[in-house]
Amino acid sequence: MNLKSLPKIELHLHLEGAAPANFIKNLATQKHIDVSKIFNQLGQYQFDNFKHFLSVYEAATTVLQSPDDFYKLTKCVLEECAKNHVVYVETFVSPEFCGGNDIVSWKEYLSAICEASEESEASFGIISRGIATCIRHLGPNSAKDTAKCAVETGGEWLVGFGMAGDETFGQAKDYVYSFDLAREAGLKLTSHAGEWGGSESVRSTVNQLGVQRVGHGVQSINDDELIQSLIEQQIVLEVCPGSNVFLGLYPDLQSHPIKTLRDRGVMVTVSTDDPPFFQTSMDQEYESLASCFGWSEDDFLELNRVALDAAFCDKKTKEKIAKMFKF
Ligand SMILES: [Zn+2]
Repeated sequence: MNLKSLPKIELHLHLEGAAPANFIKNLATQKHIDVSKIFNQLGQYQFDNFKHFLSVYEAATTVLQSPDDFYKLTKCVLEECAKNHVVYVETFVSPEFCGGNDIVSWKEYLSAICEASEESEASFGIISRGIATCIRHLGPNSAKDTAKCAVETGGEWLVGFGMAGDETFGQAKDYVYSFDLAREAGLKLTSHAGEWGGSESVRSTVNQLGVQRVGHGVQSINDDELIQSLIEQQIVLEVCPGSNVFLGLYPDLQSHPIKTLRDRGVMVTVSTDDPPFFQTSMDQEYESLASCFGWSEDDFLELNRVALDAAFCDKKTKEKIAKMFKF
């Protein structure tokens, strides 16, 4: 089986987190910003744990300072996705990092990102959509500002609202206002939960924020009642196995619950999260899953079918993507 040539759908990719180390390094040099401490001697991003990862991530984003930087970033990231035969990707993008949650600035950044998205579709055939993402550990007020930016700019490209950052900060209920605002504006919803926060974090995220999808959600494995309710409510998990293993959530892929969750009937999808940070790619994720769990081409086709159903884009776009899979 040649997994590399299989078309792929990716639902959980942070735009800033997909910035190759060299891209950030070159931009830093041009702008005379010293970010050398975030790289190791091999030139890769370096961090010791999740909290450290978040601070390295934020340091990397400090070199992304203009709509043009995000234009170049989007082009670079989508080209990399296309090389992995990703035909449809949803990227998390934080208005916080695009002009500090200021609506006027955000519109300029978004327009640059959309331009890059259109050009990448024309060049590589890759379709992309965006999810405006608040950063949980910056608190509920910042999240409200992000939600307002999202509400103002929701449309063909920006289709969702989400939450990333440190899941152990605050409680899901602190963010209800922001998710309600986004839902009322017709945006689809997802939030990181059940990565570091346990199954209770998934439960409160689903019940209180009303999300259709959960970023990671792997901690649900310890909670039979929750698994049952995820199945009943048809909640889809955006699972990022390579990210989880790299950050030490599981010692290896064999110990990762993606297979058990799927076997028990939970709808799971596969994504890379922040590929250069976790030294992964969609090709690599598929290859690792195939060799570890014996998944066949049919298994991956099924994963992509789940992902397409759970995608936040409109029906017309879904029909276009379905044709690439011959669904
Ligand atoms: Zn993530």
